[in-house]
Amino acid sequence: MAIETPPPAELDPYLMATSQVNSVARRLGLDEGTRELLCSPKRELTVNFPVRLDDGSTRIFTGHRVQHNLARGPAKGGIRYHPGVTLSEVKALAMWMTWKCAVINIPYGGAKGGVVVDPKSLSLPELERLTRRYATEISIIVGQNEDIPAPDVGTDGRIMAWIMDTLSMHHGHTVAGVVTGKPVSIGGTVGRVEATGRGLLYAARKAAAYRGQQLEGLSVAVQGYGNVGSTAARLFQAEAGAKVVAVSDSSGGVYNTNGLDLVALQRHVAGGGKLIEAGGGNHVSNAELLELPVDILVPAALEGQITSANAGRIRAGMIIEGSNGPVSPDADAILQDKGVFMVPDILANAGGVIVSYFEWVQDLQFFFWEEAEVRDRLRQVMDRAFDEVAQLAEKERLPLRQAAMQLAVSRVLEATRIRGIYP
Ligand code: NAD
Repeated sequence: MAIETPPPAELDPYLMATSQVNSVARRLGLDEGTRELLCSPKRELTVNFPVRLDDGSTRIFTGHRVQHNLARGPAKGGIRYHPGVTLSEVKALAMWMTWKCAVINIPYGGAKGGVVVDPKSLSLPELERLTRRYATEISIIVGQNEDIPAPDVGTDGRIMAWIMDTLSMHHGHTVAGVVTGKPVSIGGTVGRVEATGRGLLYAARKAAAYRGQQLEGLSVAVQGYGNVGSTAARLFQAEAGAKVVAVSDSSGGVYNTNGLDLVALQRHVAGGGKLIEAGGGNHVSNAELLELPVDILVPAALEGQITSANAGRIRAGMIIEGSNGPVSPDADAILQDKGVFMVPDILANAGGVIVSYFEWVQDLQFFFWEEAEVRDRLRQVMDRAFDEVAQLAEKERLPLRQAAMQLAVSRVLEATRIRGIYP
């Protein structure tokens, strides 16, 4: 009989992340000290801070900023606003950022931040006060050369603008490179908003070609209709001719085997409507969406969506991971056995951090690029990373996830070895 709920340890993001490292450590024969070094975040900052609400009362919020590994460069990673944020989750997301930056070979270490809050429950002025205070609290470890935040679930360009402005006020002058994902008018880059979704498209193209397929005509289901999911859905359909048959957000989703009218859906959502009320297809729950008979499944919501409880029922031939950590290690083993081809998060969703890196480079040089250049360079970095991972996978007869992890860990270890252990 199928298990309905996975054991709690399977859903613990930090245990998920360390279990991936442990399996690389076993394969590479790493000693215990090295394994521990890879699993241990360098810095974990937890802040409890007050925010004045519009009704005059004060509420205490909790936030975190974790820097996982800095051997290859300054720390880089998004900030999440979500009621389910935990230190374990932020530590895992910071670790995945280390591997992501290493596998695509950009000179950053990994970090992540989060505040335990439902941003939709706050007014705009409350959200701004919370953001400015959180930015101030974490400013002791954040900086243009130290640790550069970016958007993640529940945050966007406007929040990045408040963070940049707050940290700049502390310096007495504008420090544009202190955060990425900013609006273009204040030092953001063209192409950043769509970067993660566009990167998913490039990863999916490479994956399809690797399997002797083309994206055109393939059916796609996308879980999560935020920045990453909505952009991916639009580009898969508009630029690759794939047929997007299902999309969902936290309210549920819509499914139409003939393909969805994404322009109408986007108009409905932009007008404040819930996806589930959009029409244009049958209702489908988030759990059902994951199990639809499609060619490609793109999880683009939160981690831990595919576990030992539902992996056996997944019918997609290919999974392109838009979210971080959507597949638990137990589920990964089940899906491998079923022959599902997976492009892992640290490779597939790297488009966001790649274009964030481009934004940071432009900010440091006060010299801004055209959109065509951003897209072209993004494609080059994604394609090269895919090829390097695929080559290692073939050479060592590994699935892409393990090859990507092995390549990333090897690069971090090489930097650690060359730098040496101080003192
Ligand atoms: P977002 O806040 O813009 O969107 C999240 C979406 O997920 C929303 O539509 C929300 O309704 C939906 N959602 C939440 N819980 C859900 C559930 N249980 N089932 C279905 N949908 C659910 O966030 P985003 O920036 O698009 O990030 C999505 C994922 O992609 C996260 O895992 C994030 O870490 C990852 N990611 C984001 C970026 C980026 O550049 N924004 C880069 C790399 C990876």
